[in-house]
Amino acid sequence: MASAEAHSAHNYHPLPIVVASADGAWMTDVEGRRYLDMLAGYSALNFGHGNRRLIDAAKAQLDRVTLTSRAFHHDRFAEFCTRLAELCGKEMVLPMNTGAEAVETAVKTARKWGYQVKGVPDGRAKIVVAAGNFHGRTTTVISFSTDEEARADFGPYTPGFEIVPYGDLEALRAAVTDDTVAVLIEPIQGEAGVLVPPAGYLPGVRELTRERGVLFIADEIQSGLGRTGRTFACEHEGVVPDVYLLGKALGGGVVPVSAVVADADVLGVFKPGEHGSTFGGNPLACAVGLEVVDMLSTGEFQQRATELGEHLHAELRLLAGAGTVTEVRGRGLWAGVDIAPSYGTGREISEKLMEKGVLVKDTHGSTIRIAPPLVISKEDLDWGLAQLRDVLS
Ligand code: PLP
Repeated sequence: MASAEAHSAHNYHPLPIVVASADGAWMTDVEGRRYLDMLAGYSALNFGHGNRRLIDAAKAQLDRVTLTSRAFHHDRFAEFCTRLAELCGKEMVLPMNTGAEAVETAVKTARKWGYQVKGVPDGRAKIVVAAGNFHGRTTTVISFSTDEEARADFGPYTPGFEIVPYGDLEALRAAVTDDTVAVLIEPIQGEAGVLVPPAGYLPGVRELTRERGVLFIADEIQSGLGRTGRTFACEHEGVVPDVYLLGKALGGGVVPVSAVVADADVLGVFKPGEHGSTFGGNPLACAVGLEVVDMLSTGEFQQRATELGEHLHAELRLLAGAGTVTEVRGRGLWAGVDIAPSYGTGREISEKLMEKGVLVKDTHGSTIRIAPPLVISKEDLDWGLAQLRDVLS
């Protein structure tokens, strides 16, 4: 930890644990102590650590070919794109690596679509986003963040974005003008503390964007791929956006894989040379991503997240009833828990939980986030919750 402190930039403040290995929902530190992982790499590890199917798919691909660049075709690419598009009910996929890259790609897609298809005058394309958003860390993406810590001293910022309150349809309606090309929102705001918008908000966004000829881009990078009990968080409200942004769990916690998924009338705007990434859609990423798509297509993980999620939320509501927790939000196996301030900050609670062998991460003051791998057993989940009760007692 001292060497990391001395020789790496201090852009994170990790809990004081050094992980050496992991399996399923458990991690083991360099001294052999075991911890229950209730964060799951911010939902990148939905299928657990060392998932056999994902590791086998990666190993088999490692022995064949790992990178071609997009200068050539390779034999895993078409299958991955076809199957992922199918899972999303869309026609096309544009694979990238990180979540932020998928968001950047969506911004470029929406702008080009706006100029070429919608007919917005050159240089005027506007994208409407929500306050409290988290879409990544690149310069353009932080340009429309409302988190001062994420933005300060990184300007000048990219123009072309308007921020409206999350969950407020009237504000959104007022912000969407003739030059608006897209509305970009998280169907549940993860980093903001797992904020679920009011019922009817997502259908309202869908109706408004359809009415006004604007793309609805759903950033499902954290909320998607099983976490909420459905493949996509939008499904809970029966909503299908024009564009899905996926990442995190798409690479199964093995390799970074992200994607923009949409129909051909949207993603078809790209011509050769206009966008790309050396590693985007590489054979290893496609092999792992394809296995992820396969695993999700049975509905088994979504079902697990629903069942365990109901249990998790019932238990957390009991804590709220006892007054140690002021609010619990979320869906499926995903919860934002506001701790009563007298029990400590989110960071303090996270450190105390770590001492008891449970790993979570705080966000915004007194909130902790609970998002264990979807493969966690009910017994382990109960054990983790018992440690939380203990810390709050
Ligand atoms: N979008 C959402 C909703 C996220 O939660 C995140 C990461 O937390 C990102 C985008 C950025 O992903 P990445 O860290 O892979 O760039």
